[in-house]
Amino acid sequence: MTRLTRRDAIKSAAAVGGWMMLTGAATAQADEPKPAGGASPPVPPPAPGEGPYVLAPLPYGYSDLEPYIDTQTMKLHHDIHHAAYVKGANAALVELERIRREGGDQIHRVRAVTQSLAFNLAGHLLHDVFWQVMKKGGGGAPPRDSDIARMIQRDFGTLDAFKGHFAAAGQQVMGSGWAILCWEPLAQRLLVVQAEKHENLHAPGAVPLLPLDVWEHAYYLQYQNRRADYIKGFFEVINWEAVDARLRAAM
Ligand code: MN
Repeated sequence: MTRLTRRDAIKSAAAVGGWMMLTGAATAQADEPKPAGGASPPVPPPAPGEGPYVLAPLPYGYSDLEPYIDTQTMKLHHDIHHAAYVKGANAALVELERIRREGGDQIHRVRAVTQSLAFNLAGHLLHDVFWQVMKKGGGGAPPRDSDIARMIQRDFGTLDAFKGHFAAAGQQVMGSGWAILCWEPLAQRLLVVQAEKHENLHAPGAVPLLPLDVWEHAYYLQYQNRRADYIKGFFEVINWEAVDARLRAAM
């Protein structure tokens, strides 16, 4: 991972559509030089065996979300689990390229490899956003007068009503998956959806603003079967400014 920079992550992210363009907008660091005139420099092709998807470093330390999310979980979750989705997404692209090149009977494998691409890429996208929407000393309520505060009030009534709905969505994911607060552009409103695994039950086109990972790897070391307590802890580390920035970019 040493060759990968946040800038690389942002650039490769921009290539995969709205979700990741928003990801990039929300991860830009102050120390990244901005290209003159806002134009993006050409993106070099990935080196053999690399990219286009890259694992960005966490935007904070492994222990920064203690006591709500423990250090070991963060290390395993980011460095092992998330890394595996990045590797899997890149491998699926390589495989699809090979299938196109070789043709013949290989073409029957398109569905299986496409399924692997969807699983791994959705896993990568959601984790990338998940890390960004938490921070040390987060939680509480969105900034007063922020768009996210205004839209939560409009679409859910109150912050507590949103949190109750979101927590239930996370608690009731059957097996592994996510609760996701999204911006749904057709109705121009916020939605809470669930994802089974990473890729099933999504609303296509809806932009994830606040995804919560409820796979057991996200909490089992610390919370065992107490998913509800983990969800309660998540509310204490939400980076509402980051969620608001994502909403403003999506609206
Ligand atoms: Mn996960």
